[in-house]
Amino acid sequence: MSKSAPKTPPEALRKARRIVVKIGSSLVVDAATRAPAAAWLNALAEDLARLRAEGRQVIVVSSGAVALGRGRLGLTRNARLDEKQAAAAVGQSLLMQAWETAFRPAELVPAQVLLTRDDTERRRRWLNARATLEALLKLGAVPVVNENDTVATEEIRYGDNDRLAARTAQLVRADLLILLSDVDGLYTADPRRDPEAEHLPLIEALTPDILAAAGGANTQADVGTGGMATKLEAARIARSAGCATLIVSGLNAHPLQGLLDGDRATLITAPASPLQAYKSWIAGSLEPAGALAIDAGAATALAGGRSLLASGVQRIDGRFDRGDCVRVVGLDGGSLGVGLAAYAADEMDRIRGKHSGEIEGLVGYKGPGVAIHRDDLVLDPAQ
Ligand code: GLU
Repeated sequence: MSKSAPKTPPEALRKARRIVVKIGSSLVVDAATRAPAAAWLNALAEDLARLRAEGRQVIVVSSGAVALGRGRLGLTRNARLDEKQAAAAVGQSLLMQAWETAFRPAELVPAQVLLTRDDTERRRRWLNARATLEALLKLGAVPVVNENDTVATEEIRYGDNDRLAARTAQLVRADLLILLSDVDGLYTADPRRDPEAEHLPLIEALTPDILAAAGGANTQADVGTGGMATKLEAARIARSAGCATLIVSGLNAHPLQGLLDGDRATLITAPASPLQAYKSWIAGSLEPAGALAIDAGAATALAGGRSLLASGVQRIDGRFDRGDCVRVVGLDGGSLGVGLAAYAADEMDRIRGKHSGEIEGLVGYKGPGVAIHRDDLVLDPAQ
């Protein structure tokens, strides 16, 4: 972690460039009326708009589809799985309506994004999901992500939106994940049972002690599924992706402004930046499925931090799909590094040696326009 890594919750929020804010069902849905908590959502939209006005990008991960749908259909909490999935189908549109209503006065544009676990775990699919999220952010929209509960059955679910939010943060290489819930952070013991419980403002390593303190402690909310253990699991996923996590209470209005004003929260730091973590994952965890042999000019460009252009690729070896890891070698076969191929092997063969402007005509779609993007490329250490 760099020396200047934030050590307090307000500092973490002030320094973050790309922020994922996860909002639990108990905040989105009013428990008494089973309708959206409109005033709270309006206040949150104002907080999000302020962050955006400061040049930060925000992505919302919102629960509430099942709870709203259950309310509308008059179902009880112990509905069957297929009924819950049906409730999500009804509730998801009510949920987006609530976000649209809250965002409009703040001049924010919500964009519904429904993910399933495959979308973040299969590389080809997550490249697509990532490209869409990037496009939405570039267009100035605020992605509002939820799990696609209507098609995700138990075996293929993220299970809870804390984990979905962490995977989303990893996908978009966010530098901060904010988990808004009904507790103001992590304690040494359950504060509702133990008066000696101490609040932990800063966690720099997820030690067994810390994990034990979370030990299944759940929140009292009767909507939603996340407890403290799932929050720490989310923080662990985010941390390994170079993203810090803030656990914050959303019980008051304007919780993000409250954070900046010094409200109590727990900050879990990350040891690397999102891009460093992403690159060490590419270099350390993926087996190359093929190789691209490149000319000397391209090798010089890569050493200067540029992307690999199709024009510099001379030869293709192996069978790989878009998003697979490939080794980059010189014309003598010596390794230069590894990276994620932006095109499949057969497409790469068609575009090798060609200029970027010719790619679309050769493969039939626009695509990323480079053979390997520089963010997806890790060079071997200089000899
Ligand atoms: N995706 C579910 C919903 O929108 C909630 C899951 C969770 O709260 O963790 O209702």
